[in-house]
This record gives sequence, structure tokens and C-alpha cells, in this order.
Amino acid sequence: MSVLDKQLVPIFEEVLDRNPGEAEFHQAVREVLESLGPVVTKHPQYADSAVIRRLCEPERQIIFRVPWVTDSGKIEVNRGFRVEFNSALGPYKGGLRFHPSVNLGIVKFLGFEQIFKNSLTGLPIGGGKGGSDFDPKGRSDAEVMRFCQSFMTELYRHLGEYTDVPAGDIGVGGREIGYMFGQYKRITNRYESGTMTGKGLSWGGSQVRTEATGYGTVFFIDEMLKATGASFEGKRVVVSGSGNVAIYAIEKVHQLGGTVIACSDSGGYVVDPAGIDVALLQEVKDERRGRVSEYATLRGDTVTHVADGSIWDLACDIALPCATQNELDTEGALALIRNGCQIVAEGANMPTTPDAGRLLLEAGVRFAPAKAVNAGGVATSALEMQQNASRDSWTFEHTEDRLAEIMRGIHDRCLETADEYGTPGSYVAGANIAGFTRVADAMLALGVI
Ligand code: GLU
Repeated sequence: MSVLDKQLVPIFEEVLDRNPGEAEFHQAVREVLESLGPVVTKHPQYADSAVIRRLCEPERQIIFRVPWVTDSGKIEVNRGFRVEFNSALGPYKGGLRFHPSVNLGIVKFLGFEQIFKNSLTGLPIGGGKGGSDFDPKGRSDAEVMRFCQSFMTELYRHLGEYTDVPAGDIGVGGREIGYMFGQYKRITNRYESGTMTGKGLSWGGSQVRTEATGYGTVFFIDEMLKATGASFEGKRVVVSGSGNVAIYAIEKVHQLGGTVIACSDSGGYVVDPAGIDVALLQEVKDERRGRVSEYATLRGDTVTHVADGSIWDLACDIALPCATQNELDTEGALALIRNGCQIVAEGANMPTTPDAGRLLLEAGVRFAPAKAVNAGGVATSALEMQQNASRDSWTFEHTEDRLAEIMRGIHDRCLETADEYGTPGSYVAGANIAGFTRVADAMLALGVI
């Protein structure tokens, strides 16, 4: 572990003390605090105003029961969460995750990250996150609908275009947003498009929102490459995961001239030396809700499916962890270093363990953190809100141009901020500091909030 500035040690100890057992939340807080030493030294007002302590405490945390009935008539009970972390810059904004691993600590880590990510976009959005320990795997459409309706029957009272605007995350895509938005509309009797993002195109959604997290991730890396006079042309890329972020990251890498040779799910990974066929992967994952092993079977002999082992053992120029938190550990990092990987950029939220991140940096791998790299998803959600507020809808080209411009802005802000605080080239320090100062300055301007 890196040392924390001595002014920040008691703040971190207080977080540990007040939030026992929430390992991922501790990790996310520590990661930000590790970058803030030079900031509190240069600007004592941040320490004097207790703004960092205030930032570590969510404004509001909602936990609720979600009862629902299965197709066979059995009653299930899940737990729902919404952590409304910070609204200094705008309404709470962040996704909902449906996955059996979801608990308060996970939602808090995601909500905390979201504050800085949203701040970095430069758009008027605060930070929040929610979800449930509901497992959509193997559930019928009707079961997913009943669950979503029950979830929204409780959550709706906390939402609104000026209050809190959820979207998707792991386990929550267009289908789930539809069921939840439909229930919100019934309960409130209001067509408030701006209350949720990630909506379908015919009912208030934005072009490019579906693709935005993956596309934005690759736009960010493209900027990293351009900064050293390089490009995606001829680059071998490994992408973990095979969900929404991974699929559209793969598509954009191919459009920019690179080749994604592998992707994965919890059952293993596939290696496709000719480049992953995105249309086929989409069919397997989105339409059949299947596994990457089926992709290998359908694609034929040139593709191998590896059921155990690590995707990070593959030789590549660029690695994109796009699955879930802490999926890239020290063993994975050492393998990437050994095989000459030059760039690791986080498409998922906090996919690299702190030790793995440190190893990559020490080895000279250029490492870019999620709150900068994957901010294109939420940024495009903010563009969806803009379109909803003005009752407008933009073309694909215009929206994609806006996304590319936002990602360029985030990239440049990271490097400029890293320079300003004496850590040139550090995307980690740049993202944490630039994200922090914008939100902290707003909090200071708004009084003791
Ligand atoms: N879940 C996404 C994220 O991690 C998107 C959130 C949103 O669009 O509100 O940033």
C-alpha cells in the first residue's frame, strides 16, 4: 500500500471505523485519498472545511424489501438499495446493478466512484448508485418484469429528473429499464422521460447510449495512444467480460483498426485470433442470453474456449478489464507485464486490485482508471437527460461526436491536472484530483452541506 498523507490518515481511519466490513468501499475511498496528498498541502481549505470527511458520508442511503412471485408461484424476497451519495453538482446519477454479489458495501463503492467520474465529465450530474442482490440469470422475462415492478414500487418515491436519475449497470439493460420506467410511469401518472436513462429509442432514449460505455472507453485509449503518436492500427487487444461494455468496446477497437483476440465470462474465455465477431457475440449474449462457450461452438474450429485459466495470460498490446471489480489481480498483472502489454484501461468499475495497479505502474505500463476511462456511459446519460429536457432527439453522428469530445476533454483534464500537481503522466492522480476539486469546490460554495 502507498502511504497516505498524514492529514488524510484520520479521515481514512474514520471511514474504516464507521463502515465496518465494507471492503470494496474502503478500497475505493483509499484509492482517491492516495492521490489527494498534494491537494490538501497546496489548498488547506479542503482539510479545514472537512469537505473530504463530508464526501465520504453518503447524503442518503435507502435499503428496502423487494418481494416478488416466481412463475411457479413461489414468493422470493430480495434486498434493494439506492445510495444517494452526492448532489453538489446535480441530481444523483448512476446505475442500478442486479447481481447476487450486491450488498451495501458494493453499492457504496460504486456510488463513491460515481461522484468523481460524473464530476470529471464536466456535466451537471451528482453521484449515486443502487441495485439489488436479485440474480437475473435463468429467470424468465415475466419474472424479471415482476421483480423490476416490485423494485420500482418502492424506489419511485426517491426519484425524479431533478432528484435522482438511475440507469443500468451489470444485470440491468434496456429490458429492465423498460419494466422499471413503465412502472414509474404508472405509479406517478407522469411521462417523466428524464427520470431514467438508458431508455429505448422510441420512448425517450438517446442514440449511442447503449454503445457509450464501450465506445467511450476506446475513445479514451485512442487519446492515450495519440498522446504518444501511436494508434490502434495493428494492436492486439484483450477484453475481459462479454456484457454491454465489452461488446461495444470490441466493436470500436475493430473500427479503429485494432484486433480484439479474446473476451470472457464467468465460465471462461474464448480466443479468436481473427478478431471477435461482434454480431455473433451479440446474438449469443443479448438474444440467447447465453455464454461465450456457445460463441466458440458457433464460430467454429479457429476459436478455442478455455474453461479455467486466466485471460490475462494471453499476449497483447492493450488489456481492457470490462467485467467486474477486482478481476485483475497481481498474478494477472505480472502475466500482462511479462507478455509486453503496454496499456491497461479499466472499462469496468474498479476491476484492478490496488496491488495489481501498483505493479503495472512500477513496470511502466500506462494505466488508466475507470472513473476516467468508462465515464462515457454516464456522460451519454447526461446527454439523454439534455435531450429529454428539451424534448429533442439528436442523430447518432452528432451524439457520438459529443461523446468523443467529452472523452477527449476528460483525457486532457487528467494529464493537465497530473502535471499541475507534480505527477506528470499519472492518469490515476489526474482523474482523482480533477474529479475531486470540481465537486469539493461546489460543496464549499454551497455552505456546510
Ligand atoms: N453504470 C454506469 C456507470 O458505472 C452508467 C451510469 C449512468 O448512466 O447513470 O457509470
